[in-house]
Amino acid sequence: MLTVTPTHCPYCSLQCGMNLVPTASGVVGVEERAGFPVNRGALCGKGRTAAAVLAPGVRLTGPLVRRGGALEPASWDEALRLVAEGLSRTRSAHGPDACGVFGGGGLTNEKAYGLGKFARVVLGTSQIDYNGRFCMSSAAAGQLAAFGLDRGLPFPLEDIPRTGCVVLVGSNMAETMPPAVRYLNELRENGGTLVVIDPRRTRTAELADLHLAPRPGTDLALALGMLHLVVTEGRVDEEFVRARTRGWEDARAAVMAHWPEYVERVTGVAVPQLREAVRMFCEPESAMVLTARGPEQQSKGTDTVGAWINLCLATGRAGRPLSGYGCLTGQGNGQGGREHGQKSDQLPGYRKLTDPAARAHVAGVWGVDPDSLPGPGRSAYELLDALGRDVRALLVMGSNPVVSAPRAAHVEERLRSLDFLAVADVVLSETAALADVVLPVTQWAEETGTVTSLEGRVLLRRRAVAPPEGVRSDLEVLRELAGRLGVEKGFPADPEEVFEELRRASEGGAADYAGISYRRLVEEDGVFWPCPEEEHPGTPRLFLERFATEDGQARFAAVSHRAAAEEPDAEFPVHLTTGRVVSQYQSGAQTRRVAELNAAAPGPFVELHPRLAARIGVAEGEPVAVVSRRGRAEAPARITAGIRPDTVFMPFHWPGAGRANNLTTPALDPTSRMPEFKVCAVRVEAAGTG
Ligand code: SF4
Repeated sequence: MLTVTPTHCPYCSLQCGMNLVPTASGVVGVEERAGFPVNRGALCGKGRTAAAVLAPGVRLTGPLVRRGGALEPASWDEALRLVAEGLSRTRSAHGPDACGVFGGGGLTNEKAYGLGKFARVVLGTSQIDYNGRFCMSSAAAGQLAAFGLDRGLPFPLEDIPRTGCVVLVGSNMAETMPPAVRYLNELRENGGTLVVIDPRRTRTAELADLHLAPRPGTDLALALGMLHLVVTEGRVDEEFVRARTRGWEDARAAVMAHWPEYVERVTGVAVPQLREAVRMFCEPESAMVLTARGPEQQSKGTDTVGAWINLCLATGRAGRPLSGYGCLTGQGNGQGGREHGQKSDQLPGYRKLTDPAARAHVAGVWGVDPDSLPGPGRSAYELLDALGRDVRALLVMGSNPVVSAPRAAHVEERLRSLDFLAVADVVLSETAALADVVLPVTQWAEETGTVTSLEGRVLLRRRAVAPPEGVRSDLEVLRELAGRLGVEKGFPADPEEVFEELRRASEGGAADYAGISYRRLVEEDGVFWPCPEEEHPGTPRLFLERFATEDGQARFAAVSHRAAAEEPDAEFPVHLTTGRVVSQYQSGAQTRRVAELNAAAPGPFVELHPRLAARIGVAEGEPVAVVSRRGRAEAPARITAGIRPDTVFMPFHWPGAGRANNLTTPALDPTSRMPEFKVCAVRVEAAGTG
């Protein structure tokens, strides 16, 4: 083992560089790695404490099988046999699509690739999707429609300080990826401006030159209102629109219906503030719009992203240096996880599952008949909703939908109704606790593999320590299960071997990794895709010459504002929006097991305005009940004037009575199939009075 192993954080999409060093206890410790340019050594609390989840007392160290209602220790042979039998039995009785696979945005590229191949080649099922669907799928759909290609950021983070203005929409970067805040600080030090759009005055909004706080679910109207002003104030870059775009006339017609006064009524953002945002965005030579889950996790998320891209295109702020639209992806490998085949509609290399040429290429690499590959399956929520009905057995790898899915109590009930559930995970998550078989797997510091950051930078995470004896890698699990299900070849457990196959499978696709090798990743500390050949330097900046559409022109989206799936009414008069806190990560399965993080963020809370708190008669820290059409959650009040009086906020990291996703709606975006996590209607009352 190396004394110092350079690697990357197991959590969010920033993928901060860190060094792992041996410690006296035999586990590794985390140290700063100043040489990695993205975070220059800085880590948030989650990254600094990441090694705590490696400890035997925290994580699973042996398989578990359900006997007489309880999970009990078992041998690997028994556990794998039961999983193979469960899947095989279901397939024989009900057909291949009765077997489902649910992946995760934290899986490495190799695992995501292997899982997609396992579903389609071994199980022959179309029913595979992953929790990244809940993350940035609307941004992916919006970018794909506009640019012909989706990569979280089409430029590196290092461009942010050099642009003239950043409009940050629905991102609380200061809590979700604190080391990235330096880019915003440097932007302002260099004379650039920051506009933050968020219903809450978050820590990130505190940094802004201008904070707009629209009603939840109205970001689309806000973007259209800004573009309306761009038109009426004569700020359209006509030459750019003519030379590099299509569809402006239709988009313009839709925009003109969104008068500033109408937008003010819809969003609650005053017209002078709207004008100021337009001025800040349009006056400098370059500007960016960056979105995150706020505008994306809506039933109109794709249109909302399209509207923000429209703003960039109409002002000539896309496909040019230091300008453009980008999405701040969320999970550690949310980007790579969707590029290589665990999404229900995609094959490796971002290929469409419905494209005959794509099917032929990937089938050739896999050595199977293209006609044997199933077609597209259900999206994540639709798959979870079908459990126990059409889908009777499920393999979950690296995901905890019991906490992270919308309408979570219903999802939990669906999981309980399965004929067979197997979960491969690092810890006994709330989802694993429901399983018939739990397979304990290796984690980031114990295995090598690649991830792709929000910048589209492919990175190598390196093994620094041996895993506990009773634990196997996800790739070993897939190999063993494939063998027991009659497919002896094609599932190597060596990650580099899988990556070499992934390179060939992605070759010629939109996300082309053909020129990227482990050797290069070590030597260059990351390579930006697309990278079609070994000699190719990689592509940090996209679209500077042409967009990735067939004719090289970007497309406007002709979109109009529409209401959220559920608006407040007499029974449920308040908006609920959900999100994250700095010391927990996603469903909290790992971070809730870290003492330091738990001390900092021990449980959920309900953030509400003093006027709303007074109306329902609760004081700071007193229990509040939040009720929606789907369920109820209770948590202590956190009272702040930094939230709109018509809105409450809950973080979603916890299970139990405070599970925020008891309340959220599964209303889906019609294109991306993203659930509307960010807005639903609720009633708020002092707990015990309902
Ligand atoms: Fe890890 Fe993200 Fe924190 Fe960086 S910002 S240390 S990648 S969780």
